[in-house]
Amino acid sequence: MRLIILGAPGSGKGTSATVLREKYDLAHISTGDIFRSNIKEQTPLGIEAKSYIDKGALVPDSLTVSMVEDRLSQSDCSKGYILDGFPRTIAQAEALDQMLAKKNEKIDAVLSIVVDDEVIKQRVSGRRVCEKCGASFNVTFKPTKVEGVCDLCGGNVVQRADDNEETVSARLKTYYENTKPLIDFYGSRDLIVEGDNGASAEDCIAQIEEGLMAKNII
Ligand code: ADP
Ligand code: ZN
Repeated sequence: MRLIILGAPGSGKGTSATVLREKYDLAHISTGDIFRSNIKEQTPLGIEAKSYIDKGALVPDSLTVSMVEDRLSQSDCSKGYILDGFPRTIAQAEALDQMLAKKNEKIDAVLSIVVDDEVIKQRVSGRRVCEKCGASFNVTFKPTKVEGVCDLCGGNVVQRADDNEETVSARLKTYYENTKPLIDFYGSRDLIVEGDNGASAEDCIAQIEEGLMAKNII
């Protein structure tokens, strides 16, 4: 099964993708995570991407598309995958169509994670992530047992550089301008499956699974 997960920054798309990846044994392709690991390693891609990410802007399509194309050619993707954070623009979605067409493949469903903007702002400013395993916590809603230490792996838990209030507003604006139109783009192909992540992550996953069952995908 090949899935895309769409949602505003802080909607919990990464968390939902992690649950689905484990449950359905999918490769999890998070463009944000790939950029962050390139930034950490100070690769040329990372150095270029950082200037955009720090502003809450999108990394240019050309860089992003070739990075994803490369990732999709790796062998673990043959078992199926969930694309988390890509596509984020119509141009990226069209590039993805072309990549898939070359391999005679298609996307089975596009998961749309819905959450209120106010909730998003609270969640994102309190979010903390593990540097080592990527697990996500929140100072208000889901604190670590020991401050600054990951419950799962003992790694350092830190705030992402782009999770401050100013950058979050810019990221939300970018989302509405560039990414939200993808809901109609994929809606016209009847691919959208919605999950409401306003209350509980479990409910959101359950709704998604119902939607996937209704489409005979699982
Ligand atoms: P969030 O969804 O919480 O904003 P991500 O980890 O998905 O976080 O992305 C972090 C940042 O990485 C984005 O704000 C953007 O600058 C960059 N980025 C990630 N994916 C893409 C993409 N497909 N195209 C362009 N930029 C991207
Ligand atoms: Zn960890």
